[in-house]
Amino acid sequence: PPCFQPSTEFIDEMPPQWPWLQPAAAAAAARRATPFVLRGRRCSSSVPASVCASAPSGHAREQEDEQSLVVVGGGAAGVYASIRAKTLAPHLNVVVIEKGKFLSKVKISGGGRCNVTNGHHLEPSGLARNYPRGYKELRGSFFRTHGPQDTMHWFSDHGVELKTEEDGRVFPVTDNSASVVDCLLNEARRLGVSLQAGKSVSGASVDANGKFVVKVEKRTIDFVDYISANYVLVATGSSQQGYSFAAQHGHSIIPPVPSLFTFKIADKRLADLSGVSFTRVTAKLMLDGIQKSAPELTQTGPMLVTHWGLSGPVVLRLSAWGARELYQDKYQAKLVVDFIPDIHIEDVKRILFQHKDQHAKNKVNNAFPKEFGLVKRFWGFLLEQESLDGDMHWATVPKSHLNAMALRLKQWMFEVVGKGQFKDEFVTAGGVPLSEISLSTMESKKQPNLFFAGEVLNVDGVTGGFNFQNAWTGGYIAGTSIGTLASKSILKEEQACLQLQGS
Ligand SMILES: Cc1cc2nc3c(=O)[nH]c(=O)nc-3n(C[C@H](O)[C@H](O)[C@H](O)COP(=O)(O)OP(=O)(O)OC[C@H]3O[C@@H](n4cnc5c(N)ncnc54)[C@H](O)[C@@H]3O)c2cc1C
Repeated sequence: PPCFQPSTEFIDEMPPQWPWLQPAAAAAAARRATPFVLRGRRCSSSVPASVCASAPSGHAREQEDEQSLVVVGGGAAGVYASIRAKTLAPHLNVVVIEKGKFLSKVKISGGGRCNVTNGHHLEPSGLARNYPRGYKELRGSFFRTHGPQDTMHWFSDHGVELKTEEDGRVFPVTDNSASVVDCLLNEARRLGVSLQAGKSVSGASVDANGKFVVKVEKRTIDFVDYISANYVLVATGSSQQGYSFAAQHGHSIIPPVPSLFTFKIADKRLADLSGVSFTRVTAKLMLDGIQKSAPELTQTGPMLVTHWGLSGPVVLRLSAWGARELYQDKYQAKLVVDFIPDIHIEDVKRILFQHKDQHAKNKVNNAFPKEFGLVKRFWGFLLEQESLDGDMHWATVPKSHLNAMALRLKQWMFEVVGKGQFKDEFVTAGGVPLSEISLSTMESKKQPNLFFAGEVLNVDGVTGGFNFQNAWTGGYIAGTSIGTLASKSILKEEQACLQLQGS
């Protein structure tokens, strides 16, 4: 049985017309769709009309069938796939149905700059380690077929100059996502892809010839249309409708939960530190019921204090690796932070004792060890935690307090009490299991000619451009498979026509 359980928290609406965890209702809807299967038949442009015209009428109808692809979802994966398929098979009718605006996430991503990919992890197995869901499966051919370098080449070949920042994130040199959006949409249009916005796909049935009958609706007005298609690509991101579509065709859905979020911390005094950042901490996430912590639940890198908790790359990576367990534990956990990961605790103590001797006459608030690389606000906070008055002199600080400070700096325990929002990036863990599709083609193992790409799959990456890379790679592979199938099919069609002509 499908393991899908709708989350009440963040998934968008369940389409009332396909309440499709109830198979009887779905079947009835599919029956309603079937009579529309003969829509859109024209003679294929690559088969000479005279050849087809000479064929017996029954055959001719089959041969005259245009090959068509419906892409559900005009995000990164859907648009990239449509371009690839249409490039390989120019005769293929490609329509992308988008319920909102095309490439809306690309537009807002990276704070409006679009973090297209990551330039520091070019080798597939190293790259795959950045995907809490997918790290095993994506190690092989997936990124080898179309990795970050291919993505960067693609964009620069299509006029979008890119730059790689120090931390590996790749952005357009314009620092404006509009250049990425325009490039993709212009290329799709140039190739003749039909881009239809403001329409939503609510399901599809498969007719007796194995063709899809895709149900398209408009929300605003009473509009229902049915499109006949040889191939369907589901690239619906984290939309509920995409999961429903997948389940309708026999897929199970791993329950979607949020990933890439900040931590709400119980300590209200932390708010005083809002805006303080640390270039390098090591943080360990301690989850209930997990005795031996996975290595990924310890992360090192920059961290930021917000007015209600902790954020920054370290926290986001932990939120991704612990996404499912945190969800189960209602976002209650412990976070142990080492603020000076490069100095051993015994050395921290030694530095503090030395400092006490060398700065005996100085106030503790004004002079503190530079080796720790801490900012004054944080040092003041630390003194407060130890109930030390900032005006006291170093000479009067008891050694026991120095030991306690060293311990706190190396193993500060915070109570995580909830999930915050992270506006720059947010993804969904869960979706169609990778075991149910072929990663070399992105085709469903349940339904021939049905393909998936992007976030609809149970793949998500940490922050840094990895999520878009999954969308580009999946879209590219799906587009290649569909384009190749469509080309082979037209070749067969032409051969059949020529045979008929000869007979
Ligand atoms: C604010 C924000 C910033 C981000 N920044 C980055 C970043 O800088 N770098 C990075 O790597 N990742 C980033 N991400 C994650 C990244 O945007 C996603 O991983 C990526 O967009 C997934 O691409 P997709 O094509 O699979 O899905 P989406 O981009 O979500 O596209 C799916 C599309 O399908 C449409 N759709 C859904 N259901 C239907 C239907 N039934 N009929 C028709 N259309 C439908 C949706 O409207 C949507 O446009 C960010 C995410 C957010 C929310």
